[in-house]
Amino acid sequence: MPQVENIDSLRDRSGNVKSYRPVDGLAYLFIDFNAYFAGVEQHDYPELRGRPVIVSPLKSEHTSAIAASYEARPFGIRRGTKISEARELCPDIAVMPARHDRYVQVHKLLMAEIERHLPLEKVYSVDEAAFRLSRSEREKEKAIRTAEAVKRGLAENVGPALRSSIGLAPSRLLAKLAAERVKPDGLTVLELQDLPHSLANMPLTDIPGVGSGVAARLARSGITDFTALWNIEPKRARAIWGSVQGERFWYQLHGFEVDEPPTKKSMIGHSRVLSREHEAPNEARIVARALLLKAASRLRHYHMFASSLSLSIRLRPDGGWAKARRFSHSQDSYLFLKSLDDMWGEFLAYRRKELAAGRLGGVTVYLHGLSKAGDASVEQFDLFEEPELKHGDGRRAALWRAIDQINADPDSKFRRLGNIRDNILPPAHRHVMLASQAGLDLNYLGAKIAFSRVPEEAEFLY
Ligand SMILES: [Mg+2]
Repeated sequence: MPQVENIDSLRDRSGNVKSYRPVDGLAYLFIDFNAYFAGVEQHDYPELRGRPVIVSPLKSEHTSAIAASYEARPFGIRRGTKISEARELCPDIAVMPARHDRYVQVHKLLMAEIERHLPLEKVYSVDEAAFRLSRSEREKEKAIRTAEAVKRGLAENVGPALRSSIGLAPSRLLAKLAAERVKPDGLTVLELQDLPHSLANMPLTDIPGVGSGVAARLARSGITDFTALWNIEPKRARAIWGSVQGERFWYQLHGFEVDEPPTKKSMIGHSRVLSREHEAPNEARIVARALLLKAASRLRHYHMFASSLSLSIRLRPDGGWAKARRFSHSQDSYLFLKSLDDMWGEFLAYRRKELAAGRLGGVTVYLHGLSKAGDASVEQFDLFEEPELKHGDGRRAALWRAIDQINADPDSKFRRLGNIRDNILPPAHRHVMLASQAGLDLNYLGAKIAFSRVPEEAEFLY
């Protein structure tokens, strides 16, 4: 068990002692459904079982598979393989258009079945979730029996086509890493005594919480493999990450339980798979901005403020880039857009070489650090704000709220203009938007990703 440092290092900025508690035994079961979208297709269409199946996000040969069944993989077909290429590699392949509503429906059935065995701790995405074992279930043999009962229950009560990999470990992060070890249909136990050696060959960027930016900073500190990462001190992790997230990561990695922050709604955001016409960086940026404007409108609808923005970009055929920016609590879409554009600039600079081919697979934007007006955290934050900025921010937020109202109910506002309304503004144009965003309707912008919550690397740390 690692040494807990001086208690002062465990206090947050308000002086509260943070709770990192050492965990005894296998406290978490993490489940990851294998090739989930393809699995649901095989579940619904028994004739597809045992056959190569891919799921396409759109009805187009130019898009890439968003899931590939394990039977498709010996052909060299995986998530990200172009549909037309998959047909060449395996002429017999079944190409199924995505049915995200159905994937969410089946997700609910799966969660309900597992909840007959264990309480749900957290849903990470439509095909990943963590469950909590009671104190009496955490011993290895018992935990394995519980996991086997979960697998049996899923096969018998939902369906055998939906296979999963389960990890059992002292923390959610370790349980997730354990689940990754054996696919498909794995059941892997990871105890503290197995570490670091049993993960020694795991690439650092495979670990949730180690994005490309953190990996680069780790490399600059001479940390290039799991064992070296394991051996750093929590303080050092904090310094390398540049935030308390590093310390949280360290504790989860070493099997400590890390309390979730108490916010009910912790983030608001949207995600899109990019169709061909939006996969060039400039087009993708407009999509990201539209997603952000939509998230910001929801933020104001909930009377909330956000203090950071994250942007993640998936590249084709694989890889990705993610970044987050902090700012004073705000509702101002202009501030958010500026922050997004800054990050987009960094992305372009950082990935200039890869972007020569210029193909982006998807974009996700999230507003984080949410709080309501009147929350202590907002008031605290105000102390650090420059008065001019605060004033301007408030006025701009009011402007955006007015725009939200018009967009939500165009008729009520334009009614005041009397009957000239119909002459000057046909219904489809009674929307207020930024000129740069004109002509982009998110409802027609390719497939939504069927994540009830999009898996965010950072989520594993809270
Ligand atoms: Mg999966």
